[in-house]
Amino acid sequence: QSQELSHVRIDYHAALLALQEQGTRMVCTGKMHTDRICRFDYLCYCTEAEEFIFFHSNASVMLPNLGPRRFQPALLDLSSVEDHNTQYFNFLELPAAALKYMPKPVFVPDVTLILNRFNADNLMHIFHDDLLPIFYTMHQYTDLDDEARLVFMEGWGEGSHFDLYRLLSSKQPLLKEHLRNLGKLMCFTKSYVGLSKMTTWYQYGFVQPQGPKANILVSGNEIRQFASFIMGRLNITAEERPEGDDYIVVFSRASNRLILNEAELLLTLAQEYKMRTVTVSLEEQTFASIVQLISAASMLVSMHGAQLITSMFLPRGAAVIELFPYAVNPEQYTPYRTLASLPGMDLQYIAWRNTMEENTVTYPDRPWDQGGISHLEQEEQERILASKEVPRHLCCRNPEWLFRIYQDTIVDIPSFQEVLREGLKVKPNLKKTKPGNVVHPGRVRQPKCQTSVQAAHEAKLSVSWQIPWNLKYLKVREVKYEVWIQEQGENTYMPYILPQQNYTFSENIKPFTTYLVWVRCIFNKNLLGPFADVLVCKT
Ligand code: UDP
Repeated sequence: QSQELSHVRIDYHAALLALQEQGTRMVCTGKMHTDRICRFDYLCYCTEAEEFIFFHSNASVMLPNLGPRRFQPALLDLSSVEDHNTQYFNFLELPAAALKYMPKPVFVPDVTLILNRFNADNLMHIFHDDLLPIFYTMHQYTDLDDEARLVFMEGWGEGSHFDLYRLLSSKQPLLKEHLRNLGKLMCFTKSYVGLSKMTTWYQYGFVQPQGPKANILVSGNEIRQFASFIMGRLNITAEERPEGDDYIVVFSRASNRLILNEAELLLTLAQEYKMRTVTVSLEEQTFASIVQLISAASMLVSMHGAQLITSMFLPRGAAVIELFPYAVNPEQYTPYRTLASLPGMDLQYIAWRNTMEENTVTYPDRPWDQGGISHLEQEEQERILASKEVPRHLCCRNPEWLFRIYQDTIVDIPSFQEVLREGLKVKPNLKKTKPGNVVHPGRVRQPKCQTSVQAAHEAKLSVSWQIPWNLKYLKVREVKYEVWIQEQGENTYMPYILPQQNYTFSENIKPFTTYLVWVRCIFNKNLLGPFADVLVCKT
């Protein structure tokens, strides 16, 4: 397969000279291999050795210069999955003089972003591990624009949704196998290596059972902006639907983890909510047409599975109903719950689980990766069959987990209705979460304290401050102040919430004592501002 590299003409001679004389230059961000992204001039890749190469010359730069710590365990993670030992990036070193004896370099003149896709056959992984991180890594570096070239080094073929990767830049992404066809020694004129992990919200259970990441740094706003970008590239426009034309999308899987009474479920939903219902599946519709439908739906109902990543395209206020097969605890598998619950996603999330064993259909004789268990010891098979819930486990080949998650399910209609009625009782108040309402207060200004001693056991402490500077430009429903008073040397403090900008404390205030006082502003009960500099107040 031939790959058109670029229409940008480069002066081959000048590029070769620059590589020979300047060697490779690398400057990175990040203290650890897990948060590092590196920018290179003239990073090369030897397709025969399957190694990146750093050419040393008098002018080459390597920051950080880690010495042998570069191998402990690696320079950086090439995928967005944290510290996965199959996803490490490093390079070999050579003196630039060695170029004389090497194959003629082929230059890639585009600004490239070099990374590993984590699992390009699974829609959830494609969005969470690749597309979102690529999109926001490209936003981090201005020269990674629409003309940037993506280079995927994990070594797989295109995968099941390669078109989605094509949306991110105007140039055809390169796979590792393409590089081989282009030359023996590929040299990237300008490249970035690694991905931002800022947008990922889930860890897949390699070191501890799967769950939300400990420190989520993304909000619904960034997810929704990314989703709009994707919709734009798919030529989907948010259509205005006539009032009352609400509908529910049931996302079904055609090959496994089936809903066996889908027709009954659709009928129930239609009757209960007086809405049309539509079924979609990745086998039946194009991705774009599914996104188009979901982008205006009131509710998305689906079995647990990668297709639920499309819930990011739901309009604000919509509901996500995730169904779990028998013996699978929804609390332990929460990538889609976490997504729906990100602040600013403004989605309602409800999980339903099958608790009736007679409503499940198992497949013990399938291959292990589709949940079969007949290859296991008899005793182990019996234990799994008798178990009522998959115990906590690590990724990725736990046979009991695979057995249970690949069951088909008859959805028990009464319990489904009950869960929905319970879960949809409270409608989310979308007005509350308008973007303007997530502006945090600034510091209170000119905090002051005054003290006086009344008697041997009586003293007063008056604290006053001015409103935060940004408040005068905002309409805020409720402004309050929090004051913490701590006796110097004690490790507890007394907290107070006040509506006004000054207060005189006399309870618990002792004469001839030093108090530390912190003041901060709070908007609408829970938007906390920073504390002003601590006041030191002596009575
Ligand atoms: N898939 C599908 N239809 C099916 C089963 C799977 O379209 O009947 C897709 C699914 O959306 C995902 C990929 O195939 O993108 C891999 O599915 P798998 O069951 O391995 O992963 P999961 O959905 O549990 O994340």
